[in-house]
Amino acid sequence: MERYCYTAQELKMIEGLLTPLAVYQFVDKRVVTLALSDGFLREFGYTDREQAVYDMDHNMYATAHPDDVTRIANAAVRFATEGGAYDVIYRTKTKTDPEYRVVHAHGEHMLRENGVRLAYVWYMDEGPYDETTKGNSPESRVNQAMAGALHEESILRESRYDYLTGLPNLAYFFELAEAGKAAMERMGENPVMLYMDLNGMKYYNHRNGFAEGDKLLKGFARVLSDILSNENCCHIGADRFAAYTSETGLEEKLHRLFDEAGEINGGKSLPVRVGIYPSSMEDVPASTAYDRSKLACDQVMKTDCSGFFYYSHELREALRRSSYIMTSIDRAISEKWIQVYYQPIVRAVNGKVCNEEALARWIDPTEGFLSPAEFIPYLEMGGLIYKLDLYMLEQVLEKIRAQQEAGLTIVPQSINLSRSDFEVCDIVDEIRKRVDASGVRRDMITIEITESVIGSDFDFMKEQVGRFRELGFPVWMDDFGSGYSSLDVLQSIRFDLIKFDMSFMRKLDEGDSGKIILTELMKMATSLDVDTVCEGVETEAQVRFLQEIGCSKLQGYYYCKPIPLEEILERYRKGIQIGFEDPKASAYYETVGRISLYDLDMVAGGDEDSFRHAFSTLPMGIIEIRGDQARFVRSNPSYRDFMKQSFGIDMSDMVSKFFKYTVPFMVNAAKVCEGQVNRTLFDDRLPDGSVVHSFARRIGTNPVTGSVAVAVAVLSVSEPDDTGG
Ligand code: C2E
Ligand code: MG
Ligand code: MG
Repeated sequence: MERYCYTAQELKMIEGLLTPLAVYQFVDKRVVTLALSDGFLREFGYTDREQAVYDMDHNMYATAHPDDVTRIANAAVRFATEGGAYDVIYRTKTKTDPEYRVVHAHGEHMLRENGVRLAYVWYMDEGPYDETTKGNSPESRVNQAMAGALHEESILRESRYDYLTGLPNLAYFFELAEAGKAAMERMGENPVMLYMDLNGMKYYNHRNGFAEGDKLLKGFARVLSDILSNENCCHIGADRFAAYTSETGLEEKLHRLFDEAGEINGGKSLPVRVGIYPSSMEDVPASTAYDRSKLACDQVMKTDCSGFFYYSHELREALRRSSYIMTSIDRAISEKWIQVYYQPIVRAVNGKVCNEEALARWIDPTEGFLSPAEFIPYLEMGGLIYKLDLYMLEQVLEKIRAQQEAGLTIVPQSINLSRSDFEVCDIVDEIRKRVDASGVRRDMITIEITESVIGSDFDFMKEQVGRFRELGFPVWMDDFGSGYSSLDVLQSIRFDLIKFDMSFMRKLDEGDSGKIILTELMKMATSLDVDTVCEGVETEAQVRFLQEIGCSKLQGYYYCKPIPLEEILERYRKGIQIGFEDPKASAYYETVGRISLYDLDMVAGGDEDSFRHAFSTLPMGIIEIRGDQARFVRSNPSYRDFMKQSFGIDMSDMVSKFFKYTVPFMVNAAKVCEGQVNRTLFDDRLPDGSVVHSFARRIGTNPVTGSVAVAVAVLSVSEPDDTGG
């Protein structure tokens, strides 16, 4: 329906009236103001007619007593939709008077040409409101009428307006929104539906009492209707609201809403989450738009500040998929859509596979290949991940048995656990039962848990990690450094190994600070006597650096992507598998690998005062000696430069083959292995006559091969002319 237009002369006549009169029209299910008389402006304290019209259109009852709003709004809608007369008494303030006055409003319909129906409402001032007035005076009669009118409230409560806030209720709001949307579209505007939720209302009530809580809700309703206008808004119930408005300037309106909502109750307010459904996405009924805006609202993750989220095609797809994943997990397991992929974890010092990690893949007949990021969060949310994790364990145990039967080397296998595993069942015992029943040794199953699994409940997780370790399962901290509390976790809970998040690898290439941080963290792990892995290793330069700083194990595409068992077997057949470490030699390699070649304290053994003054870029390396053969196991760049310059030995091949050594430098180092001493200082004369002052320390013997590892550091080299050579 179109808005009715008075002629200029008619308008002038109405506006000039001294009786307080307003003319309204019901357009698109809501009241619009056509004219206000001078008497109306005076009665309600306005000096600016435009402002008065704006206020009437946007929040007609802004100054009315909150307890009367619902009743008069309902009466107005009834009057507009059902006809008859409008006759209400209510309390209102005016622009100039802060005290409530009683106003008696009386309205009638007038029919214009073309059947257009207009509502004329006259207002009578009945004087100031005084609850205590008794007797027969005119004021007291009005006040009694007022009390009677208040009584009527209970009858109207179930109708169109919400009692607490005076906003339309949901059913009426849907009607308003349908009509409002049509009107906006006629004007070329894009309507949007908003769903709003005050975060933490329950706790707010608990802490501040229900009266304060109600005040907050009323305050929020007021802010909403100020910004979006009363009939565009709705109080759904509790701490939830809805509204529709135009997409134009939406985000500015929301920021204003957040700012003003933050001021309610003297700033003791709550953050607002808003979900937005733009009808430009798809033209749907108001109730559907409302449902979608609610889904979008659930996506606002931040809980400590206000925020909004748009419903989108991506969100719709994600929601569809989440429900598919949660309802199909049992079938995915029984039909073997879930597959286990294995990624090798390689020992830094010998390049051999020392562990494998089991990673889940969902290969769905209709959805295609799904990576963990696409299904794990949903299974976690639904508390269903334990089904996957126990299935993964069973598959891993089966694989170990198959490898045992085939006489293949078996290295420990990692499985990943999630937070909800610990919440929905006794996962420690479920795992123990299955491992024990399979006959596989417990130390062959490694448990990986991330910081997010620990959460804030350190005590509980400390106990669970402790139980695993007491039973003999190694426990690794996964994705170290990806969250905020990694160091706290490390301080509270004892792990066998720290797995550095792959973000460290990305930062290595971004300058020195990444290298320094990782070097220091690696030292810290060693001081805590915790083993280390870096994941996401993709380049040779990263491998070298990690070897130098003493990272024990490496995992990443540089070595191998996660692959299914068949592919591992295929690699065996083709003879291109990386090769497995003999688990009996693991402890030896762990010691050899952990020494940082940037830290002389570690090479020297930490208690040689004479070396403490030295700085960290001395040439340092680790040599493995077997009889009269030797090989370089690890070295830092200065060691490689030194060997090249002094002996012409090119060490670019890091983990090189054994060769018969002849250089005096190595002969001396080898003597440490034969002798009684564990460490020694020695001098060597180089071909150019200069003297090299070095240090060597025996650090371990490989129980499988008998090789001895020796750490070597070059402490000083004299100039050739100093020695006369
Ligand atoms: P995660 O345990 O940290 O696993 C390492 C992830 O890094 C794997 O991703 C792996 O494919 C990937 N990755 C390995 N090397 C590289 C590399 O060099 N470069 C890059 N860019 N990525 C590399 P994936 O398999 O997608 O798994 C993601 C996460 O999903 C896992 O992170 C783990 O937290 C979780 N997850 C996987 N399988 C399971 C499972 O069976 N149960 C549970 N609870 N979580 C699982
Ligand atoms: Mg992992
Ligand atoms: Mg990880």
